[in-house]
Amino acid sequence: NHSEAALKKAKARGERYLFFDKSMTDRVAGNLTLENQLRQARINDEFVLYYQPKRSLVSGKVTGAEALMRWNNPKTGLVPPNHFIPVLEETGMIHEVGRWAVRQAIADYLRWIDAGLEPVRIAVNVSPLQLRNRGFVGEIEQLISVDQRAAAGLELEITESMVMENIEHGIASLQAIRALGVHITLDDFGTGFSSLSHLSRLPLDVLKIDRSFVLDMAKGPDGMAIVMNIITLAHSLKLNVVAEGVETEEQSKLLRLMKCDEMQGFLFSKPVPVELFESDFLARAAGV
Ligand code: C2E
Ligand code: MG
Ligand code: MG
Repeated sequence: NHSEAALKKAKARGERYLFFDKSMTDRVAGNLTLENQLRQARINDEFVLYYQPKRSLVSGKVTGAEALMRWNNPKTGLVPPNHFIPVLEETGMIHEVGRWAVRQAIADYLRWIDAGLEPVRIAVNVSPLQLRNRGFVGEIEQLISVDQRAAAGLELEITESMVMENIEHGIASLQAIRALGVHITLDDFGTGFSSLSHLSRLPLDVLKIDRSFVLDMAKGPDGMAIVMNIITLAHSLKLNVVAEGVETEEQSKLLRLMKCDEMQGFLFSKPVPVELFESDFLARAAGV
């Protein structure tokens, strides 16, 4: 912290005036643990949302976007979520930062409407710790209360293990959230201990096929059969199916043939900063 470092130095020297000295703050920062850096990052507003578009395999149109968090560290550059989300979870900071992500996504969505862009629903990833929290539903309710149009712009991505930890509480929470008009997506489907009897009880709108299954399609008939069956299963439960991690034309072609509804992946677009998402995907769709 600038002022503390300056104050200590000034006191030590008996100086009357405080000033910041770059080498001094660098030294202090160098001693900070990742945890402290993340606390500071929150204060300095260094977390950002990148948006990755989803595309209909039928119409080719952009159907939505996933918000993916990055830490814009001024010293080292963009840090991917796998490097800091676990620490946010260990320290409990995930509640505050997770709340920020939902608030930011809603603000972006409302801004798109006001700017005359064709808005798409934004999917925000939720940590198991958030969903387990007794106050989570109320929190979502409060966050969407800023505008009556907000709920239609929000989708929450959860994973199977998240719900399985306490299935009754999980189902009740998801039902309450869905009743608000917010959509629920089951992320990374197939990677957890998928229980089909539980799956049918979950209040869901979308099922996302994990990237690993999309990759396995190329490996032969077994890989194809699994994806085909996941799609059939999802449709029988009246869920929209999104394939994750689509990187090749071949994968996208196969998925279209298998009646998968949407795709997301580097083939269409990598996650991009919000300004780029607006100009490249929303403005074009709206013909602005
Ligand atoms: P996820 O929700 O399954 O997100 C998909 C990840 O796959 C993203 O990585 C995305 O950049 C990457 N991806 C997308 N298309 C492709 C592709 O074609 N090929 C490959 N190889 N990868 C692709 P990212 O952004 O690094 O996020 C990793 C994970 O971090 C996410 O997995 C999610 O679990 C977590 N995460 C991200 N943002 C948040 C957040 O705001 N809150 C929480 N709790 N977790 C988050
Ligand atoms: Mg996700
Ligand atoms: Mg995923």
